[in-house]
Amino acid sequence: MFPVLDAFGRPLRNLRVSVTDRCNLRCQYCMPEEEYTWLPRHDLLTFEELTTLVEIFTELGVDKVRLTGGEPLLRRDLPTLVRLLGHNARLKDFALTTNGVLLAEQAPALYEAGLHRITVSLDTLKPDRFLALTRRNTHAKVLEGIQTVKQVGFSDLKLDTVVMRGYNDDELIDLLEYGKRVGAEVRFIEYMDVGGATHWSMDKVCSRAAMLEMLGRHYGPVALVSARGSAPAERFCLPDGTTFGIIASTTAPFCRACDRSRLTADGMWFLCLYATRGMDLRQPLRAGASPEELKALITPGWQTRQDRGAEERQVLEHLGLRGTLLQVERLRTDPHLEMHTRGG
Ligand code: SAM
Repeated sequence: MFPVLDAFGRPLRNLRVSVTDRCNLRCQYCMPEEEYTWLPRHDLLTFEELTTLVEIFTELGVDKVRLTGGEPLLRRDLPTLVRLLGHNARLKDFALTTNGVLLAEQAPALYEAGLHRITVSLDTLKPDRFLALTRRNTHAKVLEGIQTVKQVGFSDLKLDTVVMRGYNDDELIDLLEYGKRVGAEVRFIEYMDVGGATHWSMDKVCSRAAMLEMLGRHYGPVALVSARGSAPAERFCLPDGTTFGIIASTTAPFCRACDRSRLTADGMWFLCLYATRGMDLRQPLRAGASPEELKALITPGWQTRQDRGAEERQVLEHLGLRGTLLQVERLRTDPHLEMHTRGG
């Protein structure tokens, strides 16, 4: 199939679909504020609308879709959407990212509906730390959700940890050991200065280099298994064969291989996590645009893409100018600027 290429030759392949901007946690690195501006309910795309848009994207070359949010399990009847999207034969890779709080209840229905790959965000194994990091007392439910995923039979379980210096950077080994016990691959993510991370500062970033140094000291030599291609994680291997990933978006951005874009729950299409503008696909969809007309918007949108947001942030760092991306006042004017709206 012809790939639709952007201005730097990157293919349109990978779509993250946010199904809600609501979340049942208030993570320090994502939603640290007390108040948020939410997307108007009537703007949220229906499952039929989402399915139509995903169909169009897959006809243009997308073959990887990940459902996300906000917290995707807060969207009512999510298994119905999974079933609808599962009929799309062009999708080679279909996964979901969740904070796990509602997973014990929903994992069986999601599996039944055809979802077999799940990533659970898990930043700590300590309940009191979880409460401090998320302002919610639901750590036990997350662990229960992870157990349920294994029991139900999902073929691929990953655990994503945002590593923050001084918060949870002393838990890398415990998290890897936990991953081994539950049969999940752990991926450590550098704390990013995305919209919504209003408490971000460079000194809270635990770099890939620091993580590898810590792990090497404990386990012995850590080997690189696979460099990242278009996937964000580089994969490493411990001497005992355990593999894990590091997503070093902050200190070693991978914009030149980035093939992902993001659809918000109300149909705004963003070409970069750092982009301040997106393309509104809901309006033409609801005005009755045909699939061909929507393709005629999406294709040039991608072909003219020049985004390399994470690399640009790094340039600012070299100039000593890197700080919080967007101030709270600006975020309040447009919820689309928030990480929890775009889906991470
Ligand atoms: N609620 C779901 C969850 O917790 O996985 C899905 C949405 S969440 C926005 C998706 C991912 O973004 C999570 O893995 C989260 O840890 C990550 N994330 C959010 N803010 C981040 C930040 N400032 N730096 C790095 N990763 C971040």
